[in-house]
Formats: sequence, structure tokens, C-alpha cells
Amino acid sequence: MSLAQKIKDIIAEKGPITVAEYMSLALYDPQHGYYRKTKPIGAGGDFITSPEISQIFGELIGIWLAVEWETMESPEAIVVELGPGRGTLMNDILRATRNVQGFHEKIEVHLVEVSEVLRREQQKILSDKNVKIFWHETIDDLPDKPMLLVANEFFDALPIRQFRKYNNSWHEIMVALDNKGNLHFKNSEIFDKPEGDVFPANIKDNVIFEYSKSSIQILRKIAEKILKNKGAGLIIDYGYSGETFGDSLQSMKKHQFQSPLDKPGEADITAHVNFGHLRKAAHEGGAIAYGEISQGDFLVNMGIELRSAMLMKKCDEKMQSEIKSSVKRLISPEEMGTLFRCLAITDGDMPKPYGF
Ligand code: SAH
Repeated sequence: MSLAQKIKDIIAEKGPITVAEYMSLALYDPQHGYYRKTKPIGAGGDFITSPEISQIFGELIGIWLAVEWETMESPEAIVVELGPGRGTLMNDILRATRNVQGFHEKIEVHLVEVSEVLRREQQKILSDKNVKIFWHETIDDLPDKPMLLVANEFFDALPIRQFRKYNNSWHEIMVALDNKGNLHFKNSEIFDKPEGDVFPANIKDNVIFEYSKSSIQILRKIAEKILKNKGAGLIIDYGYSGETFGDSLQSMKKHQFQSPLDKPGEADITAHVNFGHLRKAAHEGGAIAYGEISQGDFLVNMGIELRSAMLMKKCDEKMQSEIKSSVKRLISPEEMGTLFRCLAITDGDMPKPYGF
């Protein structure tokens, strides 16, 4: 049975489901979920990410993590990545930091990854590294040690619920069956209210408000771990700066947008990350949050221009123009420079992180 059919059967039996329930099934269903079986990333996959665009991205993040580690006075620590994809970012991080004195001897790498397929790719690409590497299903299994964490395009994969207000009352957007038995979105006035006072007061009628409980819970737990064991984290994703609203649910297959209700399990489904919510969760967990700032500003502050000029000196003309265009793609406001945002979190004893 296809996942679409399974979802239709669930709705026929139980009634409409939330967008978050739909996303969970489409992405994580143990049998058919998108992240369980396919190779999503890269030219042959469905989408491309910053570490896959240029090695400089991971190198600069490696430097960021190593500087934070030195600021912490170089303790034994865990380097954690959430959703490491093909392992490219961690590979670049480890290569860029191999000459940082004592770093590789004092760290263990912990990767949080749900996808078996991607775990195997990560194992392969990282197999020649001289550091201990561990894999986990969730952040709950991470050991209690000072932590240096990075997550690139991880939070956008976590389920969101969608709400909209009209006629003076809030409605939840549900996934339901239309009269032909196809999946469609439907507003429902009756729904389980999210805990706490989450609905914004200043939203215009009919504009969609998105809420990702799992993102908030994960970030709060990270903040609590950083408060308890010390550390720093860097979260990069595309998303909302401040209080911006709207429908950001999107689905991509083979680098083309498609309806999120089309072919569940066979296409990637994501939503914009609400950095305001993440920052609040960091504070609730007791950590300090910096930013978010744009990816363009962060990478320029980290020295991307100098690093690319150095790399280009060693290359022929064709490679030079490739480096130039990949750097432009990462930092230019028309491409990934502004839509992608960076948030840093640290424990209270750390100074403001480099790059912010
Ligand atoms: N960071 C990588 C990959 C981004 S794609 C890059 O920048 O290229 C999202 C990644 O998060 C994939 O590795 C996916 O398998 C993983 N992932 C998605 N949801 C997850 C979850 N709930 N828990 C753990 N890993 C998850």
C-alpha cells in the first residue's frame, strides 16, 4: 500500500489530521517516510544545501566551533550535528580543524540522524577520520559533556501546525478528504489548543500562523544541556526573522516545487523556521541566544571573502569562477544570503560568539 493510501485510510477512519501529523507521516513513517528510504540531497536528489554548494561553508563552521571550544578553555567535549545529511558538513568541519591543537584528541562526534540511508553515507565519508563517531536517533541520547552543536537545515524538517483566524476565532488547517476521496486542506474550528499563550495578537485575519512544537521542545532541551554542561550551538536554516507570518509549507521533488499533498513520502516537505520561537525556547532553557542574523552577514563576518580568495589562488580559471559563483550563492541577498538565518546559543559564561 502506498503512503498516500495509508494516510487516506487513517483520515477515513479517524477524521482529518493536523498538518504536523501529516508531515510526520510523510517524512518519518517507519515504512514509507521520506527520510527513511530515499537519498534526498544533491544533484541526483531533491534539493541542495549550503555544505553541498561549497566546502568553505563547512570550513568556516569548523573554525567557529573550534573558537568556541578554545573560549571554553579546550575541555573534553562532544561535537554534535543534528541532521548531518550526506556528512559533507562534518567532513569539512573535521578537515578544517585538524590542525587546531588538541581539538581532535579532546572531542567525540555525535550525529543525530533518523535516516538509515543517510547514516550509511555519513559512515562512508567520515570513515577515515581519527575521531570517535557515534550515531543517535534523538538528542535525548547525547551524553552529558560540554557540547559544540551545529544544525544546518534540520529544523525546517520538523512538523508544524498551521492556524488562521477569521470571524474572530482561530481555526486549525487540517488535512482531510474531499468528496472525491482526495487529500485537501480544510479549516476546522474545533481543534486541540496548543499549550500556553502561543497565538499572536497582532496577526491580520486569514494570515496563516505556523507553530512547531517539536522544534521548540528540541531547542529548549539543547539550551538546558548547554546550561548544565556548558557549550555553544549554531543553528542555520531558512526562516522568519521576527514576527513574520504566512503559509511556508513547501514540498520539493527533483529540485521542483510541488503541492505538499502530492505523493507523500516521495518528496521533501519543509516549513520556514520561526527564529523568534527558537530564541524564546533558548531563553526558557536558560541559555543566551545571539541573532538571528543573515547567513550572508555571518559568513562575511567569518571571513568567507578572504578564504575564497585564498582558495582561488590555487585554482585554474574554471574552478575560480565556480568558487566565485558558489560563494555568491551562499551570501547574496537574492540567493541564500538573506533568507537563510543564523542563531547562536551559549551558556551564560561565554562571551558573544565570533561572527555575531
Ligand atoms: N544538514 C544537512 C542535511 C539537511 S537535510 C545539509 O545541510 O546538507 C535534513 C537532515 O535531517 C537529514 O539528514 C535528515 O535525515 C535529518 N532529519 C530530519 N528530521 C530528523 C529528525 N526528526 N531527527 C533526526 N534527524 C532528522
